[in-house]
Amino acid sequence: MPQVSRPCPICTSESAALCFTNPMAAIGGFDMSYAVVRCKHCGFHYAQQLADNATFSAYYQTVSKYDAPESVAPVDQARIDATVRFLDGRLAKTQRIADLGCGYGALLGGLQAAGWHYLQGLDPAPNAAQCALKMFGVKGIQRGLMSEAHTVLNLQEVDVICIMCVLEHLPQLRSDLSRLFSRLRPGCKVLIEVPAIEYFLNPDSEPFGEFSLEHIQFFDAPSLTNLMYSLGAKQLALELLPLPMVASGSMLGLFEWSGAPPVDLRYEYPETSPLTAYVVESQRQLDRALQRVPACPLIVYGAGSHTARLLAHLEKKSGCSVLGIVDSNPNLAGKQMGRWSVRSPSSIHETPDVPVLVSSFRSQNAIAAHLQKSVANPVVLMYH
Ligand SMILES: [Zn+2]
Repeated sequence: MPQVSRPCPICTSESAALCFTNPMAAIGGFDMSYAVVRCKHCGFHYAQQLADNATFSAYYQTVSKYDAPESVAPVDQARIDATVRFLDGRLAKTQRIADLGCGYGALLGGLQAAGWHYLQGLDPAPNAAQCALKMFGVKGIQRGLMSEAHTVLNLQEVDVICIMCVLEHLPQLRSDLSRLFSRLRPGCKVLIEVPAIEYFLNPDSEPFGEFSLEHIQFFDAPSLTNLMYSLGAKQLALELLPLPMVASGSMLGLFEWSGAPPVDLRYEYPETSPLTAYVVESQRQLDRALQRVPACPLIVYGAGSHTARLLAHLEKKSGCSVLGIVDSNPNLAGKQMGRWSVRSPSSIHETPDVPVLVSSFRSQNAIAAHLQKSVANPVVLMYH
């Protein structure tokens, strides 16, 4: 497990209680394991014992795929529609909006269609501007990271900045935001979207699936309010947004930057958190799934985050041993996962008696149906 420790990104307290350790097999040599802790001072849940900054940067560079999408996924369309509804009536159509981390401009496209016209965007993807123009007729997208926003955009002339599904990723959350806010004009509004703990507990969601490799901050409504308040941004509106198509949900918050952080900091500390129930239920679900894994040598099908989390448990299960990991995604062939090198599913034929364990929550049934047609090996499912 990596060892980079950090204070609470909201209140900077060093005192935190352990909630869950999330050991993940290293993917492509990157150990992105972490521990989830809860700050004893403000109640925020965040990841500790993190990979260092160099590992994070290298990881993001490796996984970043700049293939332009053909269309907007239904879940993203639902998020965009909800965001447009959330802003309608709260922001005049004359407001100048900048979306930091705008991707291919889908949200800007939604805002433009709803009548906002002063739109800008910033994204590190080299072809973001071209795609945004082609897909949504959106102009004004520049290339760059959020940390470089002030060098690329004139932030003093922006009325609203959008930071959508970014904050949960940032290893330097507090300093990144303070630096950005210091470049804004007092009175500038800040629109935030983050995944919401309020939706983690869901009978249709993967056990511990919300503790993904890339999410290292976990927000509920009180903690998002605390964070923005501690930086000097007053809450104007906050709304929870269920996203049933991914068995989860997010939260939208609109804030106003005052120009300086408050002098006298006080935090709302909720005694109970929905994250506790999520961890308990995930553990119960995972234990039940592990009981269905046979105590014998097996092949694991799937080289995603589900397997990265599962490998540690399989290694502990007596009699069980992983002979190999296969995945149908050709981009993963040859990639290192833990001490295994990912192979093509065609290698399953070499050992026709070895059970194949389907290691996926969402795609389990589709993979099993495919395997039953193409291989003679017994196929093992983990979930009902
Ligand atoms: Zn704290």
